Amino acid sequence: MYCPACESGISRSFLREEDIDGGDTFECQSCGILLRYIVDEGTYLGAQEESLEIVDDEDE
Ligand SMILES: [Zn+2]
Repeated sequence: MYCPACESGISRSFLREEDIDGGDTFECQSCGILLRYIVDEGTYLGAQEESLEIVDDEDE
């Protein structure tokens, strides 16, 4: 996966080490922007979609 802001690679092992699960937010280590880790539970064949989105408002 890549940071949507700076396109720096973000590895799954980093997410595991930081104990970040689906729905959690964290700061990109490269640009410092706040990101949310999205895990879309599989709808078929157990596939899982993972993505990162930029968090615009921490108060939502
Ligand atoms: Zn970044």
